Amino acid sequence: MPRSDGALKYDRGGRLLFTRRMKREYTLLMPQMLPITFTMMKKVFETYGYRIDMLTSSHRGIVDTGLRYVHNDTCYPAILVIGQLIEAVKSGNYDTDKIGLLITQTGGGCRASNYIHLLRKALRRAGLQQIPVVSVNLSGLERNPGFSLTLPMLRRLAAAMIYGDLLMWLRNQCKPYETTAGASDMMAEHWTDVLVTLFGRGRGLSKRDIARYMADIAADFARLGRSGAPKTRVGVVGEIYVKYAPLGNNNLEDFLIAEGCEPVVPGLTDFMIFKINNRVVDVELYRGSALKKLAAGVFQRYIEGLQRVMIDAVRSQPSFRPMGAFADLKELVKGYVGYGNKMGEGWLLTAEMLELIHMGVGGIVCAQPFGCLPNHVAGKGMIRKLKDDYPHSNIVAVDYDPGATRINQENRIKLMLSNCRRAAPPPPDAAEAETGTAPQRDNSINIASPGGRS
Ligand code: SF4
Repeated sequence: MPRSDGALKYDRGGRLLFTRRMKREYTLLMPQMLPITFTMMKKVFETYGYRIDMLTSSHRGIVDTGLRYVHNDTCYPAILVIGQLIEAVKSGNYDTDKIGLLITQTGGGCRASNYIHLLRKALRRAGLQQIPVVSVNLSGLERNPGFSLTLPMLRRLAAAMIYGDLLMWLRNQCKPYETTAGASDMMAEHWTDVLVTLFGRGRGLSKRDIARYMADIAADFARLGRSGAPKTRVGVVGEIYVKYAPLGNNNLEDFLIAEGCEPVVPGLTDFMIFKINNRVVDVELYRGSALKKLAAGVFQRYIEGLQRVMIDAVRSQPSFRPMGAFADLKELVKGYVGYGNKMGEGWLLTAEMLELIHMGVGGIVCAQPFGCLPNHVAGKGMIRKLKDDYPHSNIVAVDYDPGATRINQENRIKLMLSNCRRAAPPPPDAAEAETGTAPQRDNSINIASPGGRS
């Protein structure tokens, strides 16, 4: 029987529940990971009656708070996310009897499923155990009467993810070349607002609508004024939080642009399909419920269908390079890492490095947080093998941890960039790269020829 303590309600195991009354009265604080996508997701939550505050704070005090409340041998993303949430609740900016915390739970085998317990422990140590923590997961891990991910909501969140990937992908291809400073960011913000308004009216969600709006988005970005010779393209891969979160990677994308590079950041959609596909692989490798495999397969095909729509939209504008498809990634990694390697980013991390090499990027930053064993295996651990097969590849593993200084991280990346530039052929005539006259940039992936050898 659930028990109650005044206004607070607990489940049988003593977990504080987020109730329906709390949904009406409380503000939920959530960490940020991908700036564009999470802004859209926040607004989707708000459409469904939740009050959300997304935390974008970024300073050393967050790490110190994290270290005060989380053991220092825990994964660096846990230290950052929990440090940021605890710092916010103790900031005096919120009524601590009227807030809850949102955190994702992957449901997989690595520690990402346990951040929620570390967060509750940190709240108890801070004397703030009355604050409910709400798990966002697709595995039915923890249920709360006042929070649920309904099918219509999931549809909007999936749309936010795929549109967010498109906006990030196009923004990164425009920003290094924009003739009006800030125009690419403004375009991404404009479309974020448009899309959220559309979602609120139940539009922009069908495959046909997505195709239409994505084509419009690509056309709008293609119209932005761009100039200059092609810059060194630098891929960013790694553990999901430090790969995307400006707080986790010390604003890596901005740093690369400031260094005269074009960042190439594979999107969240592949990670989501990877996670769904893992359910299928589980049954194939270890047996299990055929129904679970069937349901996961249907969901995977739905998201892959949306991904194809996104790729087609980018292809419709010859001045942009499209992203790869999940099926190609899965094919690329054959012979490198088995599909059973699925903790953390698992085989997807190796596959993304292969994809970037096949796309011809100049260099790759593999962002590795402290404490992340799975990604050290599939990321740093695979670099030697990739160099053997692709001698021209230029990959640097960069460690992100509480003791690593930003200057050290940036120096390692700068060294990699100087190697890229030494190895790169002389840039083509700058005039050729002007918007509208730029040749189509072929991003197609050649699966069959490692290192250019067939
Ligand atoms: S992926 Fe790595 S950093 Fe993230 S929870 Fe798992 S072990 Fe920790």
